Amino acid sequence: MLITAVGVVIAERNYGETDKFIDVLTAEYGVVEICVKGARKIYGKSNSATQLFAYSKFSFNSRADRYYLSSSEVIKVFYGLRIDIKKLVLAEYFAELIRHCATTGQTAKDIMRLFLNTLYFLSEDLRSCEFLKSVFEMRLMSEIGMLPQLIGCRECYRYETEEMYFLADHACLLCGDHFEYKGFEEDYFHIRINHAVLEALRFICLAGPERLFNFRIGERSMKLLNEITEKYIFARIGTSFKSLDFYKKICEPVEDKPDQHN
Ligand SMILES: [Zn+2]
Repeated sequence: MLITAVGVVIAERNYGETDKFIDVLTAEYGVVEICVKGARKIYGKSNSATQLFAYSKFSFNSRADRYYLSSSEVIKVFYGLRIDIKKLVLAEYFAELIRHCATTGQTAKDIMRLFLNTLYFLSEDLRSCEFLKSVFEMRLMSEIGMLPQLIGCRECYRYETEEMYFLADHACLLCGDHFEYKGFEEDYFHIRINHAVLEALRFICLAGPERLFNFRIGERSMKLLNEITEKYIFARIGTSFKSLDFYKKICEPVEDKPDQHN
């Protein structure tokens, strides 16, 4: 049976002498693993359509529980990712998160739209890496049903008080009074947040997809937002990601080396 689907390549693995496997995120079938025969022959089927992060139309056959690529046609290549290692590694982290969260056979329309839009903003330099990382992390969690409770304090339902805390491990907010009353202390997962971060969290989780990237946040709050969304991923998925470790290494400020004059 020949299946046709549009999707984004989120991983590729070499197989044997000349073949490769690609994981493709599709709206209809979730993540699908497809074998590309002869992908690595010089004049083989290896083309831009099956490269990492290519958005393409794929036709594939199902044989013995495996999918084999029949033909592919590229729709969009995000060239901006290929010329910037920081962006490339960040996109790899997004792909790793998706592979972790999305399963085969389940529709993934919202995740695919989120991923494509994020890649577009990243590739075209329309938002900073930090901004896109937080938006993607938090929105992905909300798309897969792990939306934190952001309406107000979990105990008294107040929308916003002077002191507000985000509890990454409990996926909720607490006002200052209840934070203290419940015996919590500020630590790795229990973080005091400010107005801007609270607004941003609510926006990312609840805004319509067409408005998702349309908000601004100051530099200091951006840093705090990044810390929170990353810890939320860690608290809910409970694993670390190779690409994230690499991304953070790239982001580390390079220390000035003393001049070596003789
Ligand atoms: Zn409260």
